[in-house]
Amino acid sequence: MAPGGGVCKVVESHPKYANYDITAAKAEKRSTQIKSNSGWGEKHGMPSTNGVHELLECPVCKNLMYPPIHQCPNGHTLCSSCKFRVHNCCPTCHLELGNIRCLALEKVAESLELPCRYQSLGCYDTFPYFSKLKHEQHCRFRPYNCPYAGSECSVMADIPTIVSHLKEDHQVDLHDGCTFNHRYVKSKPHEVENATWMLTVFNCFGRQFCLHFEAFQLGMAPVYMAFLRFMGEDSEAKKFSYTLEVGAYDRKLTWQGVPRSIRYSHRKVRDSQDGLLIPRHLALFFSGGDRQELKLRITGRIWKGQ
Ligand SMILES: [Zn+2]
Ligand SMILES: [Zn+2]
Ligand SMILES: [Zn+2]
Ligand SMILES: [Zn+2]
Repeated sequence: MAPGGGVCKVVESHPKYANYDITAAKAEKRSTQIKSNSGWGEKHGMPSTNGVHELLECPVCKNLMYPPIHQCPNGHTLCSSCKFRVHNCCPTCHLELGNIRCLALEKVAESLELPCRYQSLGCYDTFPYFSKLKHEQHCRFRPYNCPYAGSECSVMADIPTIVSHLKEDHQVDLHDGCTFNHRYVKSKPHEVENATWMLTVFNCFGRQFCLHFEAFQLGMAPVYMAFLRFMGEDSEAKKFSYTLEVGAYDRKLTWQGVPRSIRYSHRKVRDSQDGLLIPRHLALFFSGGDRQELKLRITGRIWKGQ
């Protein structure tokens, strides 16, 4: 026993009913035997790792434990983040926890093959614990961040859900077809910082592409930029190409590129200038008129291959 104050609570270990009926006990034993016999086939059919998974479940947070796994002097185990949270007091028997590791369970945890956490999204691979963590960071089934720029949107989901989220919650236009002709009109072209972020989604080859248009300050120079992002993995994005064109009065700027996956943040693509950059003086020239209004017509095309 830990001396002075080590015990948070004393547990009564003797049963109240000392004069326990022996016949009743025998009968109970028989019935449990029958029960367990009849349940044996069922239990045997279950995956053998099930019991191990139960052993490795942290009694506090219910997550699977992985090294370092801690235990109290009575052998109750818990995960390292919960050990920190329970202020060194075993949540099961309330003994002081100390610093005892459960090496046997750690070995079991390391040997265990675990399913990817995105199994419900379609990934059926299994991994030892630490490679599982590494895999999950790059799993192609992991949910995508909402590609809408200019607002702090925390929605994460698969592509079909993201597409309907863009339509319903961000009022984004959805167009069918692989060519586009888009007009961007803004009344105060000199307020670059306040320029609205604009996003249109194109449905093409059965996939979705985000066309971004926005204004920002590139160094000292105000610019407009249009670029395409692919709603899927980068490996698939590379199978597509696109062009963007803007112009007027027999002059035009053309950009040909490869869409970037929405795995890359909007900001990252913008800052790498991987798209059609339009200096403001050209944008105003293409807009014509008295230069008090921005009126750009951007045309483009998406195709398969380079
Ligand atoms: Zn825990
Ligand atoms: Zn304990
Ligand atoms: Zn996975
Ligand atoms: Zn969103």
